[in-house]
Amino acid sequence: MPNNPIRTNFLVIGSGIAGLNFALNAAEKGKVTIVTKKKSIDSGTNFAQGGIATVISKTDNFKKHITDTLTAGGGKNNKKAVEFMVKKAPEAIKRLAEKGVRFANKSGKLLLTREGGHSEKRIVYVGDYTGKEIEKVLSEKVKTHPNIEIMEDTFALDLIISKKSCYGCLSIYKNKTVPILADQTILTSGGSGQIYKCTTNPKIATGDGVAMAIRAGAKIKDMEFIQFHPTAFARKLSPMFLISETVRGEGGKLVNKKGINFLKNDLASRDIVAKGIYLEMKKGPVFLDISHKKTSYLKKRFPKIFETLKKYGYDMAKDKIPVTPAAHYQCGGIETDIKGQTNIKNLFAFGEVACTGVHGANRLASNSLLEALVFSDQIVKNLKKISEKEFKKVKFQKIKIVDKNSNKTKESKKTKKEIQEIMWEYAGIARNCNKIKKTALPKMEEINQKLKKIKSINPEIAESQNMALTSLQILKAARKRKKPLGCHFAN
Ligand SMILES: Cc1cc2nc3c(=O)[nH]c(=O)nc-3n(C[C@H](O)[C@H](O)[C@H](O)COP(=O)(O)OP(=O)(O)OC[C@H]3O[C@@H](n4cnc5c(N)ncnc54)[C@H](O)[C@@H]3O)c2cc1C
Repeated sequence: MPNNPIRTNFLVIGSGIAGLNFALNAAEKGKVTIVTKKKSIDSGTNFAQGGIATVISKTDNFKKHITDTLTAGGGKNNKKAVEFMVKKAPEAIKRLAEKGVRFANKSGKLLLTREGGHSEKRIVYVGDYTGKEIEKVLSEKVKTHPNIEIMEDTFALDLIISKKSCYGCLSIYKNKTVPILADQTILTSGGSGQIYKCTTNPKIATGDGVAMAIRAGAKIKDMEFIQFHPTAFARKLSPMFLISETVRGEGGKLVNKKGINFLKNDLASRDIVAKGIYLEMKKGPVFLDISHKKTSYLKKRFPKIFETLKKYGYDMAKDKIPVTPAAHYQCGGIETDIKGQTNIKNLFAFGEVACTGVHGANRLASNSLLEALVFSDQIVKNLKKISEKEFKKVKFQKIKIVDKNSNKTKESKKTKKEIQEIMWEYAGIARNCNKIKKTALPKMEEINQKLKKIKSINPEIAESQNMALTSLQILKAARKRKKPLGCHFAN
């Protein structure tokens, strides 16, 4: 039997920028409980390097940022959501700075850099570790807030749903199932990059949010649009080490083995640059070259990238750095309106797990931290409480938890690898709809069916189930879209 339920007003699943930021806003209206499956800093946010897009330069305006976002997104974006995000950006960044995020500045004036697809310099940043700084500042605020409880090492297993309403989630904590009942449940569980063999995403990005939402009957949208970052460091690392687009923004060039700068525009949007690199790599390796800059500048501007590459024997001031595309960002997700509301009552989603329609078929660089921030920044106007009588009617599943050293757990680790291979091979940067239909989908269906039968579980097994279900969703969406669009490079 499950443990006694925990009761809260707002249950937030995930402790990245979207979850932490939402929690700080919601705590003014009621009790917030954040569950996060590892330590609170284990998030995609903590890995973000480049920065956040916002219109603050005198030569820039909202119209340009909106146009750049729509162009990168192949026009598939929800224009209303894009306008909402772009116009709210400067205020949201100001609030983040007031909370303590120390964006690079000169005498108080924010410095701006450039990324692919942006017609202006409009990225605010903290060195090459913007996300780490944001995660640290927000985590500290959350941990000292009297109205917020953060439960680390707590795995959200499934949403508690009755009659198309959400009542919280069933979680695993210390090998026991713990129901958490809430008036409002907010999914901020990030992306799904780990379903691919080569990804820049941390281990937590296993698509749990999308999978839970599918099982709950929530609408999912645009999952075929998986963004591949053009410049991961070409070393077999897990996750792969990202070399931020801001390196190109500061003058780095992409060259082939002959040293030729083979692209028309190194700072085109990511779908175009990733495709260009992918095609060039059929002829030979591709490199990022910023060796015309001095060591002192590179060490100061890109401290983390400089040190990491040095560890692997590369000096940015002298060497060309081998790069390759890797799975990076889930543009689609759980369909929400502008307020984060899903089609299920009392269930909301923000950040990478959500699909507000902002990104369309391809996300514009540095718009993801922004989307997570702006949408989760909305003040919760009224806390609509669910009556205790209604909660009493809710039934919980009985689930047996198995040991993390069990054979089933070892098997699920192998299955994860199998999923990663299939997705990289068939739903990677270039896809063939026919091969997806004939080979990848039947294989994934089989894996999914096999995993669904496992009834005694633990977080490792649940992750493999979530990876299979999310992969299936991507494959189904990719099979249907026969023509290429944005990051869906299909034939
Ligand atoms: C290497 C890298 C560099 C990037 N650089 C940039 C950049 O410069 N600019 C930009 O705009 N974007 C960047 N991005 C993308 C951006 O970082 C993410 O899209 C964003 O941080 C997502 O925030 P989030 O709050 O939605 O999710 P995350 O920050 O990923 O947080 C998700 C949280 O949910 C938790 N969780 C997941 N599943 C469960 C579960 N079942 N139970 C409990 N908890 C769970 C996780 O542990 C985590 O705490 C980058 C991403 C990567 C990987």
